[in-house]
Formats: sequence, structure tokens, C-alpha cells
Amino acid sequence: MFVGHYSVAFAAKSEQNRIPLWVLFIAVQFLDYIWATLVLLGIEKLRVIKGFTAGSMLDSYYHPYSHSLVGALIWSAFVALVYKKFWQAKASNWAALIVGLAVFSHWILDFIAHPRDLAIYDNKWKVGLGLWNYRGLEFGLEVALLAGGIVLYLAWNAISATRKKAVIGFGIALVIIQIGDTFVPRTPLSDRETAMGVWIFYTLFVVVAYLLEKGAPARILDYNPWSQR
Ligand SMILES: [Zn+2]
Repeated sequence: MFVGHYSVAFAAKSEQNRIPLWVLFIAVQFLDYIWATLVLLGIEKLRVIKGFTAGSMLDSYYHPYSHSLVGALIWSAFVALVYKKFWQAKASNWAALIVGLAVFSHWILDFIAHPRDLAIYDNKWKVGLGLWNYRGLEFGLEVALLAGGIVLYLAWNAISATRKKAVIGFGIALVIIQIGDTFVPRTPLSDRETAMGVWIFYTLFVVVAYLLEKGAPARILDYNPWSQR
């Protein structure tokens, strides 16, 4: 699962919980940030094999710390706690819980897509429904999830028409990136290159999510010359 993870980030944001979209963008991919870091450190292991599954080249044969069920639960609780205690002292318990659930949603969506490479505990009892074996179906699910998440985001948040268009444009860009990832043939990257790519692309998306909600670009997006005197 790739861009489908962001559906949860979009859907989780509301006017009430006031969690920044960029925080949710980190939360839903937090397990992959840990994974990419541990792969770079040589602690977790990855093979990139052309045609490993129809929809992905990743053979994550050893990732107990980032992607076991127990690991995912611990990271989810950890991030919720950090958000509550250190990041935003005024955050409600409810908002912290949502951030924790956003982290855990990563494991659920990976469980649907991954072949049996997700351990329950340590490196034992591997599970995964393997939707990646059905390329079109998996792609369809990613896009449907993302579209659903964006629809909910637009419904639950009062934002200007211009910014709405920017959000939809970002969604379209994510779908195009997913098309490239799923359907465009390419020579496999090394494990370290893949991990670097995760850090670069995911962080780029976090920056876009930040710009969508605040800062100068948001003011420009909301600028309406007809309302000026
Ligand atoms: Zn993952």
C-alpha cells in the first residue's frame, strides 16, 4: 500500500480535532519511516525483486520492529503519547487517540496489500492478504481509498474553493505517482535506494500537506482580488 495510506490522514482531519494535516501525513506513514531508517541502518532487511508480486517489487522479509503487529501497536501508542504530551500540550485525549489510530491504520492497510510478510510478534506468524498479487485490484483500492479520504476531508473542513482545488490537485498528483509506481516498468532500486526514496517522497508529501493548510501559499490560494477595496 502506498498512496492509499493518505486516505486515513485526509479522513481523520476535522475542524474539531484540529490535528494538522502534515502531522497526520507523518502518522499514517510512521511505520514506513521507522522501516526505511532501520533498512538504512542494516537492522531490517529488504530485497527488491522484479515481479515479486504483480503490484510491488518489495520483499520485506525481515521487518519485525517496524511492521510486526506488536511493533505497530507500540509505535501507535508511542506517537499518540508524544502528540499528547510533548507536541501539543493542549491536544485533547481524543485528538491524541486519532493520531495513534492513524499510525495503526498503516498496519491494517499493509495487511490487506502485503503478501505474508507481516509478523504478529518479532519475526513469527506472518500474515498478509496479498492484494499486491492482483495489480489492478490493489491499484483500484488505493485510488478509491484516497478519493474517499479527500471527499471526507473536504466535507468536514471549512476551506475556500481555491484551496479545495489545490487539495484535489494534490490528490490527482498522488494518483499519478501511484500509476508510475504500479504500472511503469523500471529496474529495481537497491534496498538502500528504496529506503532513501521513502524518506524523500514521504517527506515531500508532508511538506505539501503543510503548505495546503498554512503559510504563505495558503494565503495566496485564499487571495481573492474581488474582495479587496
Ligand atoms: Zn508499510
